[in-house]
Amino acid sequence: MTARTCDLLIRNAYVLTADEKRTKYPSGAVAITGRDIAAIGPSADIERDWRGARAIDAHGAMVHPGFIDTHYHVTQHMIGKMIQEVSFEGADPTAWIAKQYTGMNNALGPEEEWANAALASLDMLRNGVTAFVDPGTIYDTDAVADAVLAVGARASFADAWIIDSDDPAFTNIRGVVPTFAHGAKALGGQLWRNADTGARIRGHVAIYGCGANSLAMIRHAKALAEKNGCAFNMHQSQSTDDAHADDQTLGKHPLVRYAEEGLLSKACVFVHMNVLRDDEFETVAKSPISVVWSPTNSWYYATRRRAPNRIAALFKRGVNVSLGLDVSKAASWGDQAHMAYLIARDQGEHLSPEDLLQMQTANAARAMGWESWLGSLEPGKRADIVIRSNDRPETWPRHNVERQHLLIARGKSVDTVIVDGEIVVKSGRHTRLDERALYERCDRAAAILRERAGVS
Ligand SMILES: [Zn+2]
Repeated sequence: MTARTCDLLIRNAYVLTADEKRTKYPSGAVAITGRDIAAIGPSADIERDWRGARAIDAHGAMVHPGFIDTHYHVTQHMIGKMIQEVSFEGADPTAWIAKQYTGMNNALGPEEEWANAALASLDMLRNGVTAFVDPGTIYDTDAVADAVLAVGARASFADAWIIDSDDPAFTNIRGVVPTFAHGAKALGGQLWRNADTGARIRGHVAIYGCGANSLAMIRHAKALAEKNGCAFNMHQSQSTDDAHADDQTLGKHPLVRYAEEGLLSKACVFVHMNVLRDDEFETVAKSPISVVWSPTNSWYYATRRRAPNRIAALFKRGVNVSLGLDVSKAASWGDQAHMAYLIARDQGEHLSPEDLLQMQTANAARAMGWESWLGSLEPGKRADIVIRSNDRPETWPRHNVERQHLLIARGKSVDTVIVDGEIVVKSGRHTRLDERALYERCDRAAAILRERAGVS
């Protein structure tokens, strides 16, 4: 049999496919044609059957699917790093969040949103994250799409600030029109993006959640997502304050009330879920919803001191858990899995490096309804691939390869990143961008944000 030609052949790799069987090829290879994976398997088979127009020798290093971050406020990327550093001293941070974020958020124009999104996308790619899900807080989706595509990442957008509560913490946010009529009309405004199945920017349905929406709005958003075959995303039970506020409004624990109302379906992707009482834990464990865990957020706000974190336990019960950084405040993408691992340990659970890889790849794709074409390395799926480097002391000796790359070296061993078959990061640097010029553009945008918001 004559060998077939592919565009790119990754050889001499320790391949983790993240497929349902967690198939791995300790001496493996991947053939890529155009934007897709053409073949994957043991090196001996793939190299016999395929010739690459271009080849990458992974030198035995780990190869895995690109991570998918299922919750990132991309236009608040720099804002998160500029907010005031304080001790919460055991207090609930909800009021502080509103005060710190709203001023700079309200100062965002298209150039500042572009800069935030471009820097965030570059940061993600260099840490092996090839796609992210916007929680519904982008004002100018055209500017942000331009930034994401300039950097070469993948994303899903939603409508901005769908809120129907008249709480000033929400109504002080620019663009919020706190009525059901406004939200219902605006929702679904990004779904046109799904018509092109090759598009790197997709659309989903999102409302703010966390006490900012009525039960009617939740019902409406869920139905709209189901009708359009996409995810329905909202924040839920991030802090003890907002969980208790939901208790008052809904007359019982929120997840229990949602179940009674028939609101917990496969389309639902609920973010945070840091506060789950016993009745809620059981309800969620038996439901088909997806949960997005933000371990860095949970750690930053020390929510574990006020409520046990039960997400690792939910994962063990079979719930589709993925990870989302939320906003980069005191941690980055390289840190998420590590923090999830530590929080799980602290709560008496053990998550293996393979569990954490599953959360960041296959489970994330499943949450978004993308599992037929993304989230694992299988023939026919998109070639969104991370190639690690063993040229790091953390990766030696070659013994616990998964643990050493995913938990110890973390983002530092990311060498090459491929999106849609295109090499966007090579030897740890972006292949198309002048990174220094981007940093300077971001610095200017950050100065403008601080000036407009009166933040020193
Ligand atoms: Zn969020």
